[in-house]
Amino acid sequence: MQGKIGNTSFVNKALKDNDLYAKKKFGQNFLTDQNILSTIVDSAEIDKDTAVIEIGPGLGSLTERLCSVAGFVLCYEIDGDLIPVLKNNLKDFNNYEVVHKDILEVDINKDIDEKLANYKKLYLVANLPYYITTPIILGLLSKTDKIKRYVMMMQLEVADRICGKPKTKDYNALSIAIKYRSDATRVCKVPRTVFIPAPNVDSAVVKLDLYPDKKYQALDEKHFFDFIRLCFNQRRKTLVNNLSGDYSKELINKMLEDNSIKPTVRSEELDIVDFINLSNYIVNNK
Ligand code: SAM
Repeated sequence: MQGKIGNTSFVNKALKDNDLYAKKKFGQNFLTDQNILSTIVDSAEIDKDTAVIEIGPGLGSLTERLCSVAGFVLCYEIDGDLIPVLKNNLKDFNNYEVVHKDILEVDINKDIDEKLANYKKLYLVANLPYYITTPIILGLLSKTDKIKRYVMMMQLEVADRICGKPKTKDYNALSIAIKYRSDATRVCKVPRTVFIPAPNVDSAVVKLDLYPDKKYQALDEKHFFDFIRLCFNQRRKTLVNNLSGDYSKELINKMLEDNSIKPTVRSEELDIVDFINLSNYIVNNK
C-alpha cells in the first residue's frame, strides 16, 4: 500500500499551507520515503488483532500506514500545532487516537489498560524524536512489559549501540540494558536524505522482540541498571577503575576473584551474564 502523506511534496505543502515549520526542539524530521515506510510496517508484522502505540505521529506518514493494517493506533504527540493538521491528514481513518502529551510523562500502563485492553497483541512503532531516544526506550522497557515488540527509527549510532556485541566498539551499557529484556536486530539503514528537513546523521530501523519469558533476572534490577552504567562510565579505564569510586578495593578484588575474572578486565570484554553475576555479588556482599 502506498500512503498519501509520506512524500516530499505532501510534507512541504502541509507545512506551508498550515504555516508550520519543522521544530528542532521537538526533533521533527518528517519521513518522506514510501519504501522505508513499507519496510518499517512490514517488519512489525501487524494485523487487525494488534494495537500499536506510535510516538510522535507528526504529519501522519507512518500513522496512515499503521492505521491501514492495525486494529487501533494510539499516538502521543507533544506538538499541539501539528495535531489539527495530523487529524485532517488522517480523516479517512477512525481507528486511532492522538494524545497530546510528552511520552516521557505518560502513565503508559494506565493508558494501555484503559484504551488497548481488547487487542491480542501490543507493539510500538515509531520514527523517534532523536533528542530523547534513549530515555524513551529505557523508560518504556522499565515501566511496562505489556508492549511485546518495538520497531523504531533512530540515529544510526544509537542503533549500533543497541545492537552492539561484546568486544566491539559499539558495546556499552545501552546494549546490555536492551539485551536484558529483548533480542535486538537492525532492520535497515536509512539515509538522512529521506527526511524533511534532513538531520545531520544517518538513521536505522531497529526491532526489539521482548523475551516471552524472562531470560535474565538480576537480584536487584535497579542496582543492575545503575551498575552497568557505572561499569562503562569511562571506556578507556579498566572495570576496577570505573568501580573504585563507588566500592572498596577489597570488595572489587574479591568479587573479581570469586567470579574468575582477571583484575585487568575492561567492561567491553564481559557479557550480560557476567554483569548480572557481578551486580548480584555486590548486592549480596555490600
Ligand atoms: N512520525 C513522523 C514522521 O515519521 O514523519 C514524525 C517523526 S519526528 C522524527 C518526531 C516526532 O515526535 C515529531 O512529531 C515530534 O513533534 C514528536 N515528539 C517530540 N518529542 C516528543 C515527546 N516528548 N513526546 C511525544 N512526541 C514527541
